[in-house]
Amino acid sequence: MRILTGLQPSGKLHIGNYFGAIEPAVRLQTQGEAFYFIANYHAMTTMESAEALQENTFNLALDFISCGLDPEHSVLFVQSAVPEVNELAWILSTVCPMGLLERCHSYKDKVAKGFQPQHALFAYPALMAADILLYDSDLVPVGKDQKQHLEVTRDLAGKMNDAFGEGLFKLPEALIAENTAVVPGLDGQKMSKSYGNTLPIFGEEKPLLKMVNKKILTDSTPLEDPKPVEGSVLLQLYRLFAGEAEYQAMVDAHLAGGVGYGTFKKQLFEAYWEYFRPARECREALLQDPAHITDVLDKGAARAREEAAKVLTRVRRAVGLGWH
Ligand code: ATP
Ligand code: MG
Repeated sequence: MRILTGLQPSGKLHIGNYFGAIEPAVRLQTQGEAFYFIANYHAMTTMESAEALQENTFNLALDFISCGLDPEHSVLFVQSAVPEVNELAWILSTVCPMGLLERCHSYKDKVAKGFQPQHALFAYPALMAADILLYDSDLVPVGKDQKQHLEVTRDLAGKMNDAFGEGLFKLPEALIAENTAVVPGLDGQKMSKSYGNTLPIFGEEKPLLKMVNKKILTDSTPLEDPKPVEGSVLLQLYRLFAGEAEYQAMVDAHLAGGVGYGTFKKQLFEAYWEYFRPARECREALLQDPAHITDVLDKGAARAREEAAKVLTRVRRAVGLGWH
């Protein structure tokens, strides 16, 4: 079984990335051959500086490995190390109706947030379909925001199979974890690197504590009063890190009143900080040997290219791109 997922080096990894994609990806890596990649072509749609893109790419590899990706078991590579993916994206674009892309929420959301409506941002789902289909992927662990893009991928694979022969492409399945499908950001919207509302996985203790205290959206219910549970960002975030009993205790304390948001935030911070302690320690150790990270990426690129070449040869032949 081929498991595949990608993360954009568009900023620091956050807990939405962790629960939506990284944690399931790490858990699944022994179930088959995992191909995990750093989507730097995609990140170009929102990044402004070449230096930041390159720095984020290295950091993402470091962070992913710190979170449990095992480079001995899984293939970690940078998207642009396999430029063949662009050729497949082009081929898929030839069967991709404009209407399909026009309906994609993530494009509309990013434009609504002020990003330039560039062609690349619009055509992103076709490149993402190529990312997945190029490796004959079976299972794609993602957050719910990517559900629609997975549907586009299956749709394009189906159209290609209809036009050029059944079995040309495998139809991949999305794997979306029920209770962590959409992790809310500090402001209550979907947590996103490009929305500036994230709680990062890694960072210094003091600024992170400050972020939890100052930025998490709460209402102005007085300390002594019962507090709303429905839609509470604080509770949704706490649930990710706390055991069921601890979570229930915080819900009960909300309903009972008499405890202020400051206390809840302190509990949330402690649970979050402890949760990522092992990953943080692993990252500290890995930082001593940056060459190890680049080595992992080089090896991953070679392995990914090998796989990509097979699929692309099959596709080129099927669509008539030869000349003999
Ligand atoms: P950007 O804002 O640049 O799009 P992002 O924060 O949305 O960045 P991506 O790199 O686009 O992160 O997504 C990587 C993976 O993380 C995808 O599988 C995506 O579904 C998942 N993911 C992103 N945000 C969340 C979230 N808030 N909750 C659950 N999963 C998420
Ligand atoms: Mg995204």
